[in-house]
Amino acid sequence: MAYICYQAEQGQWIMTDLTENGCRLSETGISPSAAAQSPASADQSVSLVRLDAPEEAWILMASPPAKVSVNGSRLLLGIRVLDDRDEILRQRTRAGVATRFFFSAERRAEVKPFRAGGQPVRCPRCKQLIGENDLAVRCPNPACGLWHHETADLPCWTYDATCASPACIQSTELRDHHWTPEDL
Ligand SMILES: [Zn+2]
Ligand SMILES: [Zn+2]
Repeated sequence: MAYICYQAEQGQWIMTDLTENGCRLSETGISPSAAAQSPASADQSVSLVRLDAPEEAWILMASPPAKVSVNGSRLLLGIRVLDDRDEILRQRTRAGVATRFFFSAERRAEVKPFRAGGQPVRCPRCKQLIGENDLAVRCPNPACGLWHHETADLPCWTYDATCASPACIQSTELRDHHWTPEDL
């Protein structure tokens, strides 16, 4: 799942995984999407919405009074498909102050029970099928996304330093988010 970072008042970076429901970018951080928003704030709303097909994509939507720029350009049409590592700047009502957000399309590598959902899936490391509910890791590289076993008997994801796909150089370290705006 993609994630978003933003800079809090004290300057530290806060990272939040984006859930399929998306979220709103408030003047000071992230808040849950839609439902709870009051009509008073709706005309200033800035939200992130997920599209599923044909591939996962994240759309930034801002209502016209909200002053938002992406990578330094003012968002004039109020809508934009986000790219990995886009910088989103949201002006606050208080003049001259803005909150910085960064979008990352990079997903986190996490071990979870595999759900086949139709087509059988073969692990690229051991070439065996991955069974329903087997513990597995999906390569977090958005261009790859291959599933690997990660069980006690078949630790296929962590078996090597990188993903088993010859076309992918994703590190297989099971740590948290790989990238932060401090790397810029
Ligand atoms: Zn395997
Ligand atoms: Zn990969």
